[in-house]
Amino acid sequence: MKKRMQQLAIVIVITTSLLLSGCSLSLLPDFDSPPDDDPLPDSGSDLPQSDPEFKVPLTDGFDFPVGDRNGKGWGVTGYGFLDWSNYSGTWHPGEDWNMYGSPTADLGKPVYAVANGIVRFSGFNSAQGNIIMIEHHLPDGRMVWSQYAHLQQRWVSEGEIVGRRQMIGTVGQGPNNTFSPHLHFEIRVRYLPQNGWPRTNGQAWPKSKVLEYYAHPTQFINSHRPAN
Ligand SMILES: [Zn+2]
Repeated sequence: MKKRMQQLAIVIVITTSLLLSGCSLSLLPDFDSPPDDDPLPDSGSDLPQSDPEFKVPLTDGFDFPVGDRNGKGWGVTGYGFLDWSNYSGTWHPGEDWNMYGSPTADLGKPVYAVANGIVRFSGFNSAQGNIIMIEHHLPDGRMVWSQYAHLQQRWVSEGEIVGRRQMIGTVGQGPNNTFSPHLHFEIRVRYLPQNGWPRTNGQAWPKSKVLEYYAHPTQFINSHRPAN
């Protein structure tokens, strides 16, 4: 009788430990989770791999990123494209958009995706604050990237498909409210990482090199308006 009790006890111990190990296996962390972020790369790194699981809709035209689809009520009253920026010591690679009216009128106002695309970056950068970068696939096979910086809020995440005129965030003032409220907006015609800026090792790129990577935002939009 005593021996049977011992055998029973052994069976119970083995069964219990098997069950527990089975449970703990299912609770193990996911080893597919990505490694820690790499340090931020310099400008000019390779294009990221495309995501076959996402079908990125082609663009059907470009609208303006603030105001109505024509940018009504807003204008580039800050740095324009290729203005020399004393603040950054570079040619300004985008446009600084403000709402007409008081200097803070645009704080918290919506920012819109200028065209259909996929969000390639949505996050924070210590130089420019909250940033969203959207990759756009044009019907002719080209790709361009729109970049929205100094945002107060970000409403989309990396990998998300967005449509033209979708609200993606709000106008802000950059990290620690560094700037008066405005939208820093870029159109890139060659890939740069989200923290790309037209300088290398502290040296400003010449205008000719800036133009290899960036387009004049307003001119680009005006030459790619939707049919309706
Ligand atoms: Zn700017």
